[in-house]
Amino acid sequence: MNPIRIEKSTQLKPKPEQQSLGFGKHFTDHMFLMDYSSDEGWHDARIVPYGPLELDPASMVFHYGQAVFEGLKAYRSVDEQILLFRPDKNAQRINHSSTRISIPPIDEAFFVEALQTLIRVEADWIPSMEGTSLYIRPFIIATEAALGVRSSDHYLFAIILSPGGAYYEEGLKPIRIFVDNHYVRAVQGGTGHAKTPGNYASSLKGQMEAKEQHNCSQVLWLDGIERTYIEEVGSMNVFFKINGEVITPELNGSILEGITRNSVIHLLREWGIHVSERKISIDEIMRASDDGLLEEVFGTGTAAVISPVGGLFWNNRDIVINEGITGACSQKLYDTLTGIQYGKVQDKWGWTV
Ligand code: PMP
Repeated sequence: MNPIRIEKSTQLKPKPEQQSLGFGKHFTDHMFLMDYSSDEGWHDARIVPYGPLELDPASMVFHYGQAVFEGLKAYRSVDEQILLFRPDKNAQRINHSSTRISIPPIDEAFFVEALQTLIRVEADWIPSMEGTSLYIRPFIIATEAALGVRSSDHYLFAIILSPGGAYYEEGLKPIRIFVDNHYVRAVQGGTGHAKTPGNYASSLKGQMEAKEQHNCSQVLWLDGIERTYIEEVGSMNVFFKINGEVITPELNGSILEGITRNSVIHLLREWGIHVSERKISIDEIMRASDDGLLEEVFGTGTAAVISPVGGLFWNNRDIVINEGITGACSQKLYDTLTGIQYGKVQDKWGWTV
């Protein structure tokens, strides 16, 4: 792979106020780009001033949806180091997603090098206030200008960066969840295990109805065939603590393998808590709640890290979990993972920029 060419911007933007960063609203001064053609493979890796992309309206991504993306964060540690959290797993996952959508893979070590190089150029953009971070969005789109359903001969790999505020400003906040019997996010044999935009487009309507009609902030997705087994919550993986055991749906082809999920399983097992990856039905959850055994429910993902669930609404039944407050296990996982991410807790995975 050729070295990454760097073209610096001559007009740097003012940095936004750290108190009001929000999420995904501000973008840094530079972006990483690299092209693919079937003749040359991946080539022309470059960091250039951030700006609009010029794409032919016939670019295949607009018509047939060949695209994949990733999401991770860079953190400024207490001792001013720049830390990443397991970016090698994002490199593996983008290739896993690409394979499903017939996009050519990227060298995984180069993927990490590309984002580390871009972050070094943009180091001043990493906010320092507690809980803030620099969100990293790598993505690949099909750029060949042609109509007709087949895989593209040209692709663009890009990385953009966005400084973001703290997800929780006043501590973990349990959310109320709508269990959707109607819409599904993905089915086995489909693309649920890949991080591809179509999965998110198809989740929007259910998500909107959960908010508007049921005052729930996220959807708990059930399996696409029997509408019985739990899959994911919003765009997070989901865990249930029942009678001392932690259960999360097994990776069955329609669930995205979260890096937070993988890390949570690892930590819980290290702490001696029994974790099962298996099918779990909504009936089993309701029964556990009736029997007083449903101790905690939480979602896991890069954005919120741990998102406690305080209530579930299913078939006109409203159940409250742990009196609607954050459970001890959720809190300990959150503290440990964010501790690792901000360099306050020994990082067993050990990534810096
Ligand atoms: N499921 C879906 C559908 C997601 O979009 C995400 C976010 N990438 C996750 C789960 C959690 O993955 P991670 O822990 O890697 O952020």
